Amino acid sequence: MPEDVVFPANKVFFHGCWVYPFVSGGCEGVIFFGKNQRKSYLYAPFIKLYCMQDIIRSLIQEITQFEADSQSGLEAFRARFTNKKAVINELFEDFRNVPKEDKREVGQMLNELKTLAFEKLATLQELIESKKVTYTLPHDLSLPGDAFVQGARHPLATVMNRIIHIFEQIGFEVASGPEIEDDWHNFSALNFQDNHPARDMQDTFFVSVNPDFLLRTHTSSVQIRVMEKQKPPIRILAPGRVYRNEAVSARSHCFFHQVEGLYIDKDVSFADMQQTLLYFAKAMFGEDVKIRLRPSYFPFTEISAEMDVSCQICKGDGCNVCKYTGWLEIMGCGMVDPNVLENCGIDSSVYSGYAFGMGIDRLAMMTYKVPDLRMFSQNDIRFLKQFEKMEL
Ligand SMILES: [Zn+2]
Repeated sequence: MPEDVVFPANKVFFHGCWVYPFVSGGCEGVIFFGKNQRKSYLYAPFIKLYCMQDIIRSLIQEITQFEADSQSGLEAFRARFTNKKAVINELFEDFRNVPKEDKREVGQMLNELKTLAFEKLATLQELIESKKVTYTLPHDLSLPGDAFVQGARHPLATVMNRIIHIFEQIGFEVASGPEIEDDWHNFSALNFQDNHPARDMQDTFFVSVNPDFLLRTHTSSVQIRVMEKQKPPIRILAPGRVYRNEAVSARSHCFFHQVEGLYIDKDVSFADMQQTLLYFAKAMFGEDVKIRLRPSYFPFTEISAEMDVSCQICKGDGCNVCKYTGWLEIMGCGMVDPNVLENCGIDSSVYSGYAFGMGIDRLAMMTYKVPDLRMFSQNDIRFLKQFEKMEL
């Protein structure tokens, strides 16, 4: 019996027998089985006759070799072997035509065939189900999603945003400038003469191929850039990162963050500055905070001052945070030097103004009691996670 014979389910009644048309080796043919045609193989060049045993053996082979890895393959198996109208049921119907002497043998074979078919069906079902689980799992939209680890705002950003928010309430606008500056904007325009010792106070990193370029030492360079372009009144806030050539330790770093403010208009006085800074201190630290101004020196302001706020931890009694003085220094400030205004093309006989600047890092250390400045830039997730709940 040719191995590639395919037995279709269709059959016709012919000469008193069931006739199965089939295709084998490119020739059309039919299979007969019935009481008279058993094992009469060659009936005509295009007709072959097979007995029921041959058909069952062929089907057993077909079932054993059947492979399916999808639902449609499974349905094809059912349609071919196990459905009501499939080939096995038809063989059972034809069983009555099997000669008496073969009935016992054929009956046993038919039962084995049926058992085999249903066992194979179960195996295929199991296989497809297992594949279905692994394949469909990632696409099951009813499953809960992967937990998303939410970050937290960096404490420096929180403090900076808070300061910006406070000054925005009274009309200050945020301005920004480059971190790589030229000497003019960082030093010369701000009244730092070429050999002025104040330049040493702000030693920084210069670009070796062109010493005129450097990493800005303060955000005051942004004030110059704004004054060069914009006519008074000017009311800006310049937050950003700045650089100094300093040894890295718990209290200093080669980069840190500043917020500077600048107000230029007609008739701006020292008293205006004092009130503005008092407003800021109250909004930042609490209504009961006190401020004090101590004389100081900066090349770009005249007169210059350092501003302290009363220690909010010990309320002025003295503690280790304020080094038992009751005061904390938080910013430098002063009236903008007329030379600086003139450098930017602003008539100093008409306009005056004040500027102030503070380090964000020190403020954040005080606010959150951070013992080491370096923690802000170590990117340790355990440190940052502590600020999850703290927002503006
Ligand atoms: Zn204190």
